Amino acid sequence: MKDNLTLKEAQEALSKRRISVHELCKFYSERIKEKNGDISAFLEVFEDLEKQAKEAQKSIDEGEASSLTGIPLAIKDNILIKDRKVSAASAMLEDFVAPYDSTVAGKLKKEKTVFLGRTNMDEFAMGASTEKSAFIITRNPNDTSRVPGGSSGGSAAAVSSGMAPAALGSDTGGSVRQPASFCGCVGLKPTYGAVSRFGLIAMGSSLDQIGPLTQTVTDSEILFESIAGRDPFDGTTYEREAFKEEKKPKDTVVGVPWHLIRQDGVDKEVLEVFKKNISELEKLGYKTKEVKLPQLEYTLSAYYVLVQAEISSNMARFDGMRYGAKVEGKDLLEEYMKTRALFGKEVKRRIMVGTYVLSAGYYDTYYNKAYTVRKLAISDFERVFSKDKVDVVAFPTSPTPAFKVGEKNEDPVQMYMADVFTVPANIAGVPAISIPSGTVVKEGKELPSGLQFMAPWKREDVLFSVGKHFKKEV
Ligand code: GLN
Repeated sequence: MKDNLTLKEAQEALSKRRISVHELCKFYSERIKEKNGDISAFLEVFEDLEKQAKEAQKSIDEGEASSLTGIPLAIKDNILIKDRKVSAASAMLEDFVAPYDSTVAGKLKKEKTVFLGRTNMDEFAMGASTEKSAFIITRNPNDTSRVPGGSSGGSAAAVSSGMAPAALGSDTGGSVRQPASFCGCVGLKPTYGAVSRFGLIAMGSSLDQIGPLTQTVTDSEILFESIAGRDPFDGTTYEREAFKEEKKPKDTVVGVPWHLIRQDGVDKEVLEVFKKNISELEKLGYKTKEVKLPQLEYTLSAYYVLVQAEISSNMARFDGMRYGAKVEGKDLLEEYMKTRALFGKEVKRRIMVGTYVLSAGYYDTYYNKAYTVRKLAISDFERVFSKDKVDVVAFPTSPTPAFKVGEKNEDPVQMYMADVFTVPANIAGVPAISIPSGTVVKEGKELPSGLQFMAPWKREDVLFSVGKHFKKEV
């Protein structure tokens, strides 16, 4: 084996006995040994790979293999796997061991997937660069002086450097799609409720979704199918419906909100790649048309009110009494204060802003207004998908390619701008995918750029279909 296999290739190689699970795992653990030192994608590589591989091989040998049996996956460090450490890249949970399996990990265990290790992330998923981890800074494999994006930067870097065939991340405002676009892989944010959040360390509970980072659109679909579905432990999940009508390119309308895309702050070269992508779609037979989503101008501001509010309430549980670290003090108040001082700067900033926007005096000014924007953004999407008869809306995934390590670290608003094109999907709950769509050259290095599609609720199938055509996987 010379190269990183896609999930589809690995499935075939395993079922045709061209390779054993042991060989597959050995390949990735060697890759990790060779590359993780420079890239720092993994916080921990699991020591029991051999044991996991044996069990998976047994299933295959006994004819009991399913889609992902024996396939190694990297898992973001905020997804619980029973009896393994899970830290959300925070000092608060440095030695915390998961007492139960997340629904997603449980599903993968049933399939006898091999867990390679825990990938680095911004602390509690708050960030867009993976520089805010309490432990290490992950580097972009395309240029190690740059960030991999975030917060699932470890997962994206692992896949793009061939240290894992695929990975799981989580996306609250763009944390799967933006690192996918910075590193050059495919990232999916499923419809809110498509994948169970049970056992995902919460950031913004009304926005969080677990999603796959993969090398191809086909793989994104394979991994999504394995983790999606209704779960009694997460009341927001739903039973999947099978949508059968496969639309041809000539019957598919791609809406382009040019009024949002031609904005200050969007890199010239990124815009060029995007324009080229739109003409490529037209050449493939897709109809394109300009659409207006006026409320989306305000969704970034609304997101940074709503998400901070939810963060301030979700972070309240880390008080030294129930989870993770505990710092002794002379009384209860001092214990709370000393323990909560373990949070990083960004987490503290968000707890403070979140508490402020929810306070009695400012609730109407901030939280309620942001909530109104959310409702209006949902009606914008409803109108575009029904009245305007658009099948998908296209955006660049990020307004810029990967930026330099340290470049945006001191200015939180600059960092927040990285999410301008991804946040609308979380605010409205619609599914969205980022697909590698070209490169831009910065300081002599070719950096990936991503094309993003958003589809109506529950219509991941449309994203996969357009994505596969665009990448010529069909
Ligand atoms: N970058 C965004 C934020 O910092 C999104 C994070 C995420 O999706 N987890 O809030």
